[in-house]
Amino acid sequence: MVITFDFDDTLKLTMLLRDEDGDIAGIDYTDDQNPVVFPAFEAALNRGDEVHIVTSRMGSKKTKEKMQEWLLSQGISRLPPIHFTEGQLKHDTLARLGSRQHFDDDPEELAHLPEGCRGVRAPLHPSWTEPMREAHVRQWVRTLLS
Ligand SMILES: [Mg+2]
Repeated sequence: MVITFDFDDTLKLTMLLRDEDGDIAGIDYTDDQNPVVFPAFEAALNRGDEVHIVTSRMGSKKTKEKMQEWLLSQGISRLPPIHFTEGQLKHDTLARLGSRQHFDDDPEELAHLPEGCRGVRAPLHPSWTEPMREAHVRQWVRTLLS
């Protein structure tokens, strides 16, 4: 079976950074695996499924090497091919590869899968939803103490 995985957030997490007021301050590229999807990725490789990584990043030798370095650092020895759609929707690439299952954090991608390809939504790092609350609590504590 052909199984495809997005890279950013789906395999390798990013974190949303907020300032003291809870406003969005940027994105941090962590080295952390997506704890839900990465085990499915390893399982597919171990089963001998045909695994591909399909990212909408701009392709370059350096980008590809960095992605491969990270995969190796996570104990992946059989590196799957990496495809770059350079900002385009992944639909055509997934269709060409014959993907039957695609993991992605982007609902837009999952809404445009080729026929016969089942989408699996990858959960984001908790920072994308949680820190807002934490930031609000910190602000509340500051108000109490002032
Ligand atoms: Mg992504």
